[in-house]
Amino acid sequence: MTVKESLISSQEQQKPWVETPLKESYALSQAAGCRIFLKLENVQPSGSFKSRGIGYYILRRLEELPVGTTNPHIFSSSGGNAGLAAVHASRTLGVPCTVVVPLSTKPLMIAKIKEAGAHEVVQHGPTWQDADMYMREELMTKAGAAAIYAPPFDHPDIWTGNSTVMHEIASQIPGGAPDAVICSVGGGGLLNGVAQALDDLNLSDTTTVVAVETSGAASLNAAVHAGELVSLKSITSQATSLGALRVTKQSLDYAQRPNVRSVVLPDAEAAMGCWRLADDERIMVEMACGVNVALCYDGRLEHALGRKVRPSDKVVIVLCGGSNVTVDMLAQWRGQFGYVEEGLQIVHGVVPSDLTAPNRQ
Ligand SMILES: *Cc1c(COP(=O)(O)O)cnc(C)c1O
Repeated sequence: MTVKESLISSQEQQKPWVETPLKESYALSQAAGCRIFLKLENVQPSGSFKSRGIGYYILRRLEELPVGTTNPHIFSSSGGNAGLAAVHASRTLGVPCTVVVPLSTKPLMIAKIKEAGAHEVVQHGPTWQDADMYMREELMTKAGAAAIYAPPFDHPDIWTGNSTVMHEIASQIPGGAPDAVICSVGGGGLLNGVAQALDDLNLSDTTTVVAVETSGAASLNAAVHAGELVSLKSITSQATSLGALRVTKQSLDYAQRPNVRSVVLPDAEAAMGCWRLADDERIMVEMACGVNVALCYDGRLEHALGRKVRPSDKVVIVLCGGSNVTVDMLAQWRGQFGYVEEGLQIVHGVVPSDLTAPNRQ
């Protein structure tokens, strides 16, 4: 079967991502002092918003193949959510996907990528650069013309795919426009998609974007402060999905606009966002996503917005998701980072937002 045939055959015509709910969280709204809406990207087929950008990218590359091309094959060198998204999208579209990762990749993620249906997971070399080069120069060359490279964030089609999340938000939120959108930043592909959609929707003058990173992975914040793109020497944050040494040029351009604010929180607070979200909303996400949630608690939102929080504010958290989390990891984070809650009189066994619930004051 050729690519065109497989794309039009009914079963495989599915989009590799889904429309997700926008859920008003009363628990987080109590904590933040305004209306908090969660855009539930954790329910995407791959577990993160990356299904949108990478799914759209792969769809476009397959559509472009010359008529009669046989055996297209997708290649990804990400041992994280980008690899998972490439595998899920390829499976939905009926093409094989090989993932090449360094030897240091966690067994948890390798297991998840295999289980998602990867054609093959190859471990090669000590660093991502080694794995990526081996994949491009050895495996992709052998696969020939039908080999398609799936990058994690640095391509305009990925931004366009990611922009669908903001278009959905605008159609779901009461009144049609949020006051602020909170999203995290790795290489900047998600931020670019959100900002691009706000332009399309004519909302860039009225909606604030809070671009969040963890310290040790703050390549956007470093670029904003330097006024130009800079490369970090290394990533020292445990939020590895945010660990791009350098953001895209487009991301810096967006971040320099008056409606975009760059915020950095420590790993401890990102971890806290994960365990409190699990308790308050029964949703498990990795640290790269928990960092957004942390902004709702303990007065951090005012600082991030640079102004007082109004009860009528509608704030959307892009709950980007991520598969690098287990029940054991959540418990371990609370053990390691529980000090961030010191002085808060947290009552264990009671949901965190109970602290801020009106009938306790
Ligand atoms: C990839 C990823 C990010 C960062 O996205 P970029 O497009 O690289 O900025 C944030 N959160 C999660 C869960 C991710 O997988």
